[in-house]
Amino acid sequence: MEKKYNVIKRTLAGMTAVMCMAGCLPALAANAEDKGESYGYHEASEQVTGGWEVVRGDTSPESNPDAVAAMDNALKYLDGVAYTPVAVLARQCVAGTNYCMLCKVKPITPNATPSYHLVYVYEDLKGNAEIIGRTTVLNSPSEGATGGYSVNDGDTSLSAHEDVLAAFNKAMDGRGGVDVRPIAYLGSQLVAGMNHMLLCKSTVVYPGAKPSYSIMTVYEDLDGNCQLSTSLKIDFGNISEFNRTIHCIANEPTCTKDGNIEYWYNTSSYKYYSDKKFVNEISYEDTIVKALGHDMDSPEWTWSDDHTSAHLTVKCNRCGEKAIDEDAVVTKKQIYPATYNRTGFISYVATVTINDESWENNCIVVLPKLTYTAPTISYEKGEGAVKLCWTEVEGVEEYGVAGFIGGKWQLLDHGKSTSYVLKNLKAGTSYKVAVVAKADGQWIKDFSNAVTVDPKEAYCYPNFRTRVINGKIGYKWEAVPGAEKYAVAVCLANKWQIVKQLDSNVLSWTSPKVQSGTYKTVVVAKINGKWVTVQAPANSVTVSVN
Ligand SMILES: [Zn+2]
Repeated sequence: MEKKYNVIKRTLAGMTAVMCMAGCLPALAANAEDKGESYGYHEASEQVTGGWEVVRGDTSPESNPDAVAAMDNALKYLDGVAYTPVAVLARQCVAGTNYCMLCKVKPITPNATPSYHLVYVYEDLKGNAEIIGRTTVLNSPSEGATGGYSVNDGDTSLSAHEDVLAAFNKAMDGRGGVDVRPIAYLGSQLVAGMNHMLLCKSTVVYPGAKPSYSIMTVYEDLDGNCQLSTSLKIDFGNISEFNRTIHCIANEPTCTKDGNIEYWYNTSSYKYYSDKKFVNEISYEDTIVKALGHDMDSPEWTWSDDHTSAHLTVKCNRCGEKAIDEDAVVTKKQIYPATYNRTGFISYVATVTINDESWENNCIVVLPKLTYTAPTISYEKGEGAVKLCWTEVEGVEEYGVAGFIGGKWQLLDHGKSTSYVLKNLKAGTSYKVAVVAKADGQWIKDFSNAVTVDPKEAYCYPNFRTRVINGKIGYKWEAVPGAEKYAVAVCLANKWQIVKQLDSNVLSWTSPKVQSGTYKTVVVAKINGKWVTVQAPANSVTVSVN
């Protein structure tokens, strides 16, 4: 019952409702504004309004069979809820009759709780009847709630509840002027003491006075003192909850909100119909047209400059809203480092997952080639050899020594060391060499560090011996590789002079007779068309002739 009521409220709040009053009830229609949950209690009015005639005598259903018959008629088409008349309180003569009676209302479901309502029934002149509305008097507390009224689900007569009657009588003690009589016991509430709720009939002690009906509370404190107060003075014109049919026009569903078909809803039977004649009953679920869901446009990704974060936005083509507006999880994938020969790249992957659905975006960042600086070469001359040394280059696999031979660079040797000895070099010959490096299996062909080297010239002096015989100087020498000619030089008057040139196949010579004295002399060789004489004084010997 409680649950269904919530459904109704939601329906009313969310949709255009057209109220259709069944029957012609001008007196009621005038009060048809939605009164919400109010009891319609009018403090100022002592009079029963709108032409309602209160029941002056016995209010029991047995004494008011016309009202009970009208109720039975009205209930013919109503399933699921039991209405038990407790007291018939008033009639109104319209084109037919309206009745107001206090009823116990209880859904026909297991564990249902009772409630009390003033129920209004209209019966037309042909005997067709319907419930036209009701006002809640007392509801059972919702499940689990504490402190509410325990609603009487049994006999409502006071004779069946003598303790309540006794409390009422105690409260009435000494009061005069108004004749108050309890008609029905509705329920009790445990407070600091006890509240008892009663339907009462009050009549001013005055000839011909009309009675009025109220819901009264007897408060009995812990010492047994009793006090009476009015909870609700019944105003018959004031119906808080009309029994009405709500016509809901069709609502197109949107991306996110359900829509509905056109339907009619009866607030007393809680039933839904697809036609206004209430022929085709449907379920509440049948009225719903499911939300369409967004019509996703292509995803838009935005990356931060450093690619550490990304954001996904997906707009909806239909409603224009951002259907997705989420930060992504970014991971680095497949990192290829840049080298001297090749550009590298990093692949960033952004992922957004919503309800098991994933969006992914790749962002590839190119890493430029590393800047290569050829190693710096230094060298040391050796005899027929040159030792090369060079600076290290980061990230290379090995080094190669290249020679410029015949107008072309040729790889002479390679290895991981940063030094190398060039051997078998001809004295007096220059060699152009460079050191290259290998990265990713490829030689970096940068020969900008090329140097021109030559071996020590010392090797170019023939080893020679002298012997003086009969005033002549005899020379004997060893061959020098690459020598084209040999010559014997003598230092005369502090000047070196070549005294004899000889072919390369000649390895000895004897001078003519010379004057007695000492001579500084040396044997030199001509290599590559040049006399090697730089170190001549150091290689010379002094010969004495007697
Ligand atoms: Zn949308």
